[in-house]
Amino acid sequence: MRNALLAHVKRVVIKIGSGVISNSSGLEEDRVAALSTDICHLLDRGLEVIVVSSGAISAGKGQLGITGRPQTIPQKQAAAAIGQTQIILKYKETFQNQTHNVAQVLLTRDDLSNRRRYLNARNTVMTLLEYGVTPIINENDTVVVDEIRFGDNDNLSALVTSLVEADLLIILSDVDGLYDQDPAENPQAELIPLVERITPEIEAMGGKSNGDIGVGGMNSKLKAVKRAALSGVGTVIANGRSANILSRIFSGEETGTYFLPAQSKLTAKKHWIAFSKRPRGKLLIDEGGQRAVIKYGKSLLPSGLCGVEGGFERGDAVRLCNLNGEEFARGVISYSLAETLQIMGKQSSEIETILGYKYRDEVVCRDNLVLTITDDEEVD
Ligand code: GLU
Repeated sequence: MRNALLAHVKRVVIKIGSGVISNSSGLEEDRVAALSTDICHLLDRGLEVIVVSSGAISAGKGQLGITGRPQTIPQKQAAAAIGQTQIILKYKETFQNQTHNVAQVLLTRDDLSNRRRYLNARNTVMTLLEYGVTPIINENDTVVVDEIRFGDNDNLSALVTSLVEADLLIILSDVDGLYDQDPAENPQAELIPLVERITPEIEAMGGKSNGDIGVGGMNSKLKAVKRAALSGVGTVIANGRSANILSRIFSGEETGTYFLPAQSKLTAKKHWIAFSKRPRGKLLIDEGGQRAVIKYGKSLLPSGLCGVEGGFERGDAVRLCNLNGEEFARGVISYSLAETLQIMGKQSSEIETILGYKYRDEVVCRDNLVLTITDDEEVD
Protein backbone atom coordinates (compact mmCIF):
# COMPACT_ATOMS: atom_id res chain seq x y z
CA MET A 1 0.00 0.00 0.00
CA ARG A 2 2.63 2.54 1.06
CA ASN A 3 4.81 1.64 -1.93
CA ALA A 4 1.94 2.46 -4.26
CA LEU A 5 1.35 5.79 -2.51
CA LEU A 6 5.02 6.73 -2.74
CA ALA A 7 5.72 5.48 -6.26
CA HIS A 8 5.19 8.89 -7.88
CA VAL A 9 7.26 10.87 -5.37
CA LYS A 10 10.25 12.71 -6.87
CA ARG A 11 10.37 15.84 -4.74
CA VAL A 12 9.80 15.76 -1.00
CA VAL A 13 9.66 18.38 1.75
CA ILE A 14 10.94 17.07 5.08
CA LYS A 15 10.09 19.07 8.18
CA ILE A 16 12.32 18.35 11.14
CA GLY A 17 10.93 19.52 14.48
CA SER A 18 12.91 21.06 17.33
CA GLY A 19 11.97 18.11 19.51
CA VAL A 20 13.69 15.77 17.04
CA ILE A 21 17.11 17.40 16.93
CA SER A 22 17.34 19.12 20.28
CA ASN A 23 16.56 18.54 23.93
CA SER A 24 16.40 20.77 26.98
CA SER A 25 20.19 21.14 26.96
CA GLY A 26 20.49 22.18 23.33
CA LEU A 27 21.24 20.76 19.89
CA GLU A 28 21.72 17.01 19.57
CA GLU A 29 24.40 17.05 16.92
CA ASP A 30 24.41 13.26 16.54
CA ARG A 31 20.75 13.37 15.65
CA VAL A 32 21.30 16.05 12.99
CA ALA A 33 24.13 13.91 11.60
CA ALA A 34 21.99 10.74 11.54
CA LEU A 35 19.09 12.49 9.81
CA SER A 36 21.43 14.15 7.32
CA THR A 37 22.88 10.76 6.42
CA ASP A 38 19.38 9.39 6.01
CA ILE A 39 18.49 12.33 3.72
CA CYS A 40 21.66 11.75 1.67
CA HIS A 41 20.48 8.18 1.06
CA LEU A 42 17.28 9.62 -0.43
CA LEU A 43 19.32 11.95 -2.63
CA ASP A 44 21.36 8.96 -3.77
CA ARG A 45 18.09 7.28 -4.79
CA GLY A 46 17.41 10.26 -7.06
CA LEU A 47 14.90 12.13 -4.89
CA GLU A 48 14.93 15.91 -4.55
CA VAL A 49 14.70 17.01 -0.94
CA ILE A 50 13.81 20.34 0.65
CA VAL A 51 14.37 20.41 4.41
CA VAL A 52 12.44 22.69 6.75
CA SER A 53 14.40 22.51 9.99
CA SER A 54 13.45 23.96 13.35
CA GLY A 55 15.67 23.91 16.40
CA ALA A 56 17.47 27.26 16.10
CA ILE A 57 16.06 28.69 19.30
CA SER A 58 16.54 25.57 21.37
CA ALA A 59 20.07 25.10 20.00
CA GLY A 60 21.12 28.67 20.78
CA LYS A 61 19.51 29.40 24.12
CA GLY A 62 22.20 27.52 26.09
CA GLN A 63 24.83 30.06 25.07
CA LEU A 64 22.65 32.78 26.56
CA GLY A 65 22.51 30.81 29.80
CA ILE A 66 18.78 30.16 29.40
CA THR A 67 17.27 26.91 30.62
CA GLY A 68 13.66 26.11 29.67
CA ARG A 69 11.93 28.20 27.03
CA PRO A 70 13.27 31.72 26.40
CA GLN A 71 10.57 34.12 27.56
CA THR A 72 11.09 37.42 25.77
CA ILE A 73 11.10 38.00 22.04
CA PRO A 74 14.62 39.51 22.01
CA GLN A 75 15.87 36.42 23.88
CA LYS A 76 14.24 34.12 21.34
CA GLN A 77 15.66 36.14 18.47
CA ALA A 78 19.16 36.20 19.92
CA ALA A 79 18.97 32.46 20.63
CA ALA A 80 17.80 31.80 17.06
CA ALA A 81 20.68 33.84 15.63
CA ILE A 82 23.16 31.76 17.62
CA GLY A 83 21.47 28.39 17.11
CA GLN A 84 20.83 28.73 13.38
CA THR A 85 24.58 28.74 12.63
CA GLN A 86 25.11 25.63 14.76
CA ILE A 87 22.34 23.76 12.98
CA ILE A 88 23.47 24.70 9.50
CA LEU A 89 27.10 23.90 10.25
CA LYS A 90 26.15 20.41 11.36
CA TYR A 91 23.94 19.76 8.32
CA LYS A 92 26.66 21.10 6.02
CA GLU A 93 29.41 19.00 7.58
CA THR A 94 27.44 15.76 7.36
CA PHE A 95 26.13 16.40 3.84
CA GLN A 96 29.64 17.21 2.65
CA ASN A 97 30.99 14.00 4.13
CA GLN A 98 28.55 12.22 1.80
CA THR A 99 29.48 14.47 -1.15
CA HIS A 100 26.27 16.51 -1.02
CA ASN A 101 25.70 20.22 -0.46
CA VAL A 102 23.25 22.30 1.52
CA ALA A 103 22.14 25.93 1.34
CA GLN A 104 20.49 28.01 4.06
CA VAL A 105 17.20 29.73 3.19
CA LEU A 106 15.59 31.93 5.86
CA LEU A 107 12.06 33.15 5.14
CA THR A 108 9.55 35.50 6.72
CA ARG A 109 5.83 35.36 6.14
CA ASP A 110 6.00 38.55 4.09
CA ASP A 111 8.39 36.80 1.69
CA LEU A 112 5.59 34.41 0.79
CA SER A 113 2.72 36.91 1.12
CA ASN A 114 4.00 39.19 -1.62
CA ARG A 115 3.53 37.52 -5.02
CA ARG A 116 6.77 38.86 -6.49
CA ARG A 117 8.82 37.78 -3.48
CA TYR A 118 6.98 34.45 -3.41
CA LEU A 119 7.94 33.74 -7.03
CA ASN A 120 11.45 34.91 -6.32
CA ALA A 121 11.79 32.56 -3.33
CA ARG A 122 10.45 29.79 -5.55
CA ASN A 123 13.05 30.54 -8.24
CA THR A 124 15.85 30.46 -5.71
CA VAL A 125 14.81 27.13 -4.25
CA MET A 126 14.23 25.63 -7.70
CA THR A 127 17.67 26.81 -8.84
CA LEU A 128 19.30 25.19 -5.81
CA LEU A 129 17.52 21.92 -6.65
CA GLU A 130 18.65 22.15 -10.26
CA TYR A 131 22.22 22.40 -9.02
CA GLY A 132 21.70 19.39 -6.77
CA VAL A 133 21.91 21.46 -3.57
CA THR A 134 19.52 20.71 -0.70
CA PRO A 135 17.84 23.84 0.71
CA ILE A 136 17.57 23.92 4.50
CA ILE A 137 14.76 26.34 5.27
CA ASN A 138 13.78 27.94 8.56
CA GLU A 139 11.78 30.97 9.56
CA ASN A 140 14.01 34.04 9.87
CA ASP A 141 13.34 34.17 13.61
CA THR A 142 15.92 36.85 14.27
CA VAL A 143 14.04 39.57 12.39
CA VAL A 144 10.38 38.60 12.49
CA VAL A 145 7.90 40.04 14.93
CA ASP A 146 4.71 38.27 15.97
CA GLU A 147 2.42 39.88 13.38
CA ILE A 148 4.49 38.57 10.52
CA ARG A 149 5.31 35.09 11.77
CA PHE A 150 4.37 31.89 10.01
CA GLY A 151 3.50 30.79 13.52
CA ASP A 152 5.26 27.49 13.40
CA ASN A 153 7.36 25.47 11.04
CA ASP A 154 4.55 22.96 10.44
CA ASN A 155 2.70 25.74 8.65
CA LEU A 156 5.88 26.90 6.92
CA SER A 157 6.53 23.37 5.65
CA ALA A 158 3.01 23.17 4.14
CA LEU A 159 3.48 26.52 2.37
CA VAL A 160 6.89 25.40 1.10
CA THR A 161 5.31 22.17 -0.18
CA SER A 162 3.01 24.24 -2.39
CA LEU A 163 5.77 26.73 -3.25
CA VAL A 164 8.05 24.07 -4.72
CA GLU A 165 5.24 21.81 -5.97
CA ALA A 166 6.53 18.88 -3.97
CA ASP A 167 4.93 15.44 -4.25
CA LEU A 168 5.07 14.59 -0.55
CA LEU A 169 5.42 16.27 2.84
CA ILE A 170 7.06 14.39 5.70
CA ILE A 171 6.70 15.90 9.16
CA LEU A 172 9.22 14.39 11.57
CA SER A 173 8.27 14.84 15.17
CA ASP A 174 9.07 13.24 18.51
CA VAL A 175 5.84 11.21 18.37
CA ASP A 176 5.17 8.16 16.18
CA GLY A 177 2.21 9.66 14.30
CA LEU A 178 -1.47 10.33 14.99
CA TYR A 179 -3.04 8.28 17.78
CA ASP A 180 -6.75 7.71 18.35
CA GLN A 181 -6.29 8.99 21.91
CA ASP A 182 -3.54 10.87 23.72
CA PRO A 183 -0.84 8.18 24.25
CA ALA A 184 0.63 10.13 27.18
CA GLU A 185 -2.64 9.71 29.07
CA ASN A 186 -3.87 6.43 27.69
CA PRO A 187 -1.53 3.45 27.20
CA GLN A 188 -4.17 1.73 25.04
CA ALA A 189 -3.98 4.49 22.46
CA GLU A 190 -3.49 3.14 18.95
CA LEU A 191 -1.53 4.64 16.09
CA ILE A 192 -3.63 5.37 12.99
CA PRO A 193 -1.67 4.21 9.92
CA LEU A 194 -3.81 5.88 7.23
CA VAL A 195 -6.10 8.92 7.23
CA GLU A 196 -8.18 9.49 4.13
CA ARG A 197 -9.59 12.86 5.12
CA ILE A 198 -9.26 15.20 8.07
CA THR A 199 -12.70 15.09 9.62
CA PRO A 200 -13.71 16.78 12.91
CA GLU A 201 -13.20 13.35 14.59
CA ILE A 202 -9.62 13.21 13.33
CA GLU A 203 -9.06 16.78 14.47
CA ALA A 204 -10.31 15.86 17.93
CA MET A 205 -7.62 13.17 18.07
CA GLY A 206 -5.01 15.90 17.60
CA GLY A 207 -5.79 17.05 21.15
CA LYS A 208 -4.22 20.15 22.54
CA SER A 209 -0.80 18.87 23.46
CA ASN A 210 2.29 20.95 22.75
CA GLY A 211 5.74 19.41 22.99
CA ASP A 212 8.16 20.87 25.51
CA ILE A 213 10.65 21.92 22.88
CA GLY A 214 8.86 22.79 19.63
CA VAL A 215 6.11 25.29 18.98
CA GLY A 216 3.45 23.24 17.21
CA GLY A 217 1.57 20.31 18.71
CA MET A 218 -0.43 17.72 16.76
CA ASN A 219 -3.09 20.31 15.97
CA SER A 220 -0.71 22.54 14.07
CA LYS A 221 0.52 19.45 12.23
CA LEU A 222 -3.02 18.52 11.19
CA LYS A 223 -3.53 22.07 9.95
CA ALA A 224 -0.37 21.73 7.88
CA VAL A 225 -1.55 18.33 6.59
CA LYS A 226 -4.81 19.95 5.43
CA ARG A 227 -2.97 22.69 3.60
CA ALA A 228 -0.68 20.19 1.91
CA ALA A 229 -3.70 18.03 1.04
CA LEU A 230 -5.33 21.00 -0.68
CA SER A 231 -2.30 21.38 -2.90
CA GLY A 232 -2.79 17.74 -3.89
CA VAL A 233 -0.04 16.35 -1.68
CA GLY A 234 -0.07 13.58 0.92
CA THR A 235 1.74 13.86 4.26
CA VAL A 236 3.50 11.36 6.49
CA ILE A 237 3.85 12.21 10.17
CA ALA A 238 6.51 9.98 11.69
CA ASN A 239 9.02 9.79 14.53
CA GLY A 240 12.24 11.57 13.59
CA ARG A 241 13.99 10.01 16.57
CA SER A 242 13.52 6.54 15.15
CA ALA A 243 16.63 5.17 13.33
CA ASN A 244 16.76 5.53 9.51
CA ILE A 245 13.16 6.69 9.50
CA LEU A 246 13.32 8.30 6.05
CA SER A 247 14.87 5.31 4.32
CA ARG A 248 12.29 3.12 6.02
CA ILE A 249 9.41 5.31 4.85
CA PHE A 250 10.70 5.16 1.29
CA SER A 251 11.14 1.40 1.49
CA GLY A 252 7.39 1.22 1.96
CA GLU A 253 7.42 0.42 5.68
CA GLU A 254 4.08 1.20 7.33
CA THR A 255 5.54 3.55 9.87
CA GLY A 256 3.87 6.72 11.15
CA THR A 257 0.56 8.04 9.80
CA TYR A 258 -0.03 8.61 6.09
CA PHE A 259 -2.58 11.29 5.17
CA LEU A 260 -4.00 11.15 1.68
CA PRO A 261 -4.24 14.30 -0.46
CA ALA A 262 -7.61 16.00 -0.99
CA GLN A 263 -9.78 14.73 -3.85
CA SER A 264 -9.90 18.10 -5.51
CA LYS A 265 -6.88 20.32 -5.18
CA LEU A 266 -6.52 24.07 -5.42
CA THR A 267 -4.38 25.55 -8.18
CA ALA A 268 -1.01 26.86 -6.95
CA LYS A 269 -2.30 30.45 -7.31
CA LYS A 270 -5.49 29.79 -5.32
CA HIS A 271 -3.48 27.93 -2.66
CA TRP A 272 -1.28 31.00 -2.35
CA ILE A 273 -4.35 33.26 -2.00
CA ALA A 274 -5.85 30.99 0.64
CA PHE A 275 -2.78 30.45 2.80
CA SER A 276 0.32 32.47 1.94
CA LYS A 277 -1.07 35.87 1.09
CA ARG A 278 -1.83 37.90 4.19
CA PRO A 279 -5.43 39.20 4.35
CA ARG A 280 -5.62 42.95 4.90
CA GLY A 281 -9.32 43.43 5.46
CA LYS A 282 -12.84 42.04 5.70
CA LEU A 283 -15.88 42.41 3.46
CA LEU A 284 -19.33 41.86 4.96
CA ILE A 285 -21.64 40.34 2.37
CA ASP A 286 -25.43 40.03 2.28
CA GLU A 287 -27.26 36.74 1.73
CA GLY A 288 -27.68 37.24 -2.00
CA GLY A 289 -23.96 37.86 -2.41
CA GLN A 290 -23.10 34.85 -0.24
CA ARG A 291 -25.40 32.63 -2.29
CA ALA A 292 -23.88 33.83 -5.55
CA VAL A 293 -20.36 33.09 -4.33
CA ILE A 294 -20.92 29.87 -2.36
CA LYS A 295 -23.76 28.18 -4.22
CA TYR A 296 -23.41 29.40 -7.78
CA GLY A 297 -19.63 29.82 -7.97
CA LYS A 298 -19.91 33.45 -9.05
CA SER A 299 -17.70 36.50 -8.47
CA LEU A 300 -18.46 39.06 -5.77
CA LEU A 301 -20.23 42.16 -7.13
CA PRO A 302 -20.45 45.52 -5.31
CA SER A 303 -24.22 45.09 -4.90
CA GLY A 304 -23.68 42.27 -2.35
CA LEU A 305 -21.44 44.37 -0.10
CA CYS A 306 -22.81 45.64 3.22
CA GLY A 307 -19.68 46.61 5.12
CA VAL A 308 -15.93 46.88 4.91
CA GLU A 309 -13.12 46.70 7.49
CA GLY A 310 -9.36 47.04 7.24
CA GLY A 311 -6.90 49.08 5.26
CA PHE A 312 -6.44 47.29 1.98
CA GLU A 313 -5.22 48.42 -1.39
CA ARG A 314 -6.25 47.14 -4.82
CA GLY A 315 -4.59 43.71 -5.22
CA ASP A 316 -4.55 42.84 -1.50
CA ALA A 317 -6.20 39.72 -0.09
CA VAL A 318 -9.41 40.16 1.90
CA ARG A 319 -11.70 37.89 3.85
CA LEU A 320 -15.27 37.50 2.54
CA CYS A 321 -17.54 37.24 5.57
CA ASN A 322 -21.21 36.79 6.36
CA LEU A 323 -23.05 39.45 8.33
CA ASN A 324 -21.79 37.95 11.60
CA GLY A 325 -18.24 38.52 10.44
CA GLU A 326 -17.55 34.80 9.85
CA GLU A 327 -15.25 34.14 6.95
CA PHE A 328 -16.51 31.92 4.12
CA ALA A 329 -14.06 32.81 1.35
CA ARG A 330 -10.90 34.71 0.63
CA GLY A 331 -9.93 36.63 -2.45
CA VAL A 332 -7.88 39.35 -4.07
CA ILE A 333 -9.79 42.62 -4.26
CA SER A 334 -9.92 44.73 -7.41
CA TYR A 335 -10.53 48.06 -5.62
CA SER A 336 -8.89 49.96 -2.74
CA LEU A 337 -10.67 50.57 0.56
CA ALA A 338 -11.61 54.14 -0.45
CA GLU A 339 -13.00 52.96 -3.78
CA THR A 340 -14.81 49.99 -2.22
CA LEU A 341 -16.57 52.26 0.29
CA GLN A 342 -17.92 54.36 -2.58
CA ILE A 343 -19.24 51.49 -4.69
CA MET A 344 -20.54 49.34 -1.82
CA GLY A 345 -24.15 48.24 -2.36
CA LYS A 346 -24.27 49.72 -5.89
CA GLN A 347 -24.77 48.07 -9.27
CA SER A 348 -21.67 47.32 -11.37
CA SER A 349 -23.12 49.54 -14.09
CA GLU A 350 -22.84 52.51 -11.69
CA ILE A 351 -19.12 52.05 -10.88
CA GLU A 352 -17.84 54.21 -13.69
CA THR A 353 -20.19 57.09 -12.88
CA ILE A 354 -19.28 56.98 -9.20
CA LEU A 355 -15.50 56.65 -9.53
CA GLY A 356 -14.99 58.18 -12.95
CA TYR A 357 -13.33 54.92 -14.08
CA LYS A 358 -13.84 51.18 -13.69
CA TYR A 359 -11.26 48.40 -13.31
CA ARG A 360 -13.85 45.66 -13.61
CA ASP A 361 -17.47 44.78 -12.77
CA GLU A 362 -16.48 42.51 -9.88
CA VAL A 363 -15.10 43.54 -6.51
CA VAL A 364 -13.51 40.10 -6.21
CA CYS A 365 -13.29 38.12 -9.43
CA ARG A 366 -13.94 34.38 -9.24
CA ASP A 367 -10.48 33.60 -10.63
CA ASN A 368 -8.97 35.18 -7.53
CA LEU A 369 -11.41 33.78 -5.00
CA VAL A 370 -11.19 30.66 -2.82
CA LEU A 371 -13.93 29.30 -0.61
CA THR A 372 -12.62 28.87 2.92
CA ILE A 373 -13.26 25.17 3.17
CA THR A 374 -10.05 24.92 5.03
CA ASP A 375 -9.68 26.01 8.61
CA ASP A 376 -10.23 28.61 11.27
CA GLU A 377 -7.02 30.46 10.64
CA GLU A 378 -6.18 33.30 13.00
CA VAL A 379 -7.35 36.84 12.18
CA ASP A 380 -4.58 39.30 11.33
N1 GLU B 1 11.82 28.52 13.86
C1 GLU B 1 11.92 28.00 15.20
C2 GLU B 1 13.34 27.52 15.47
O1 GLU B 1 14.05 27.20 14.55
C3 GLU B 1 11.01 26.81 15.45
C4 GLU B 1 9.58 26.96 15.09
C5 GLU B 1 8.83 25.65 15.34
O2 GLU B 1 9.29 24.81 16.15
O3 GLU B 1 7.80 25.43 14.72
O4 GLU B 1 13.76 27.42 16.57
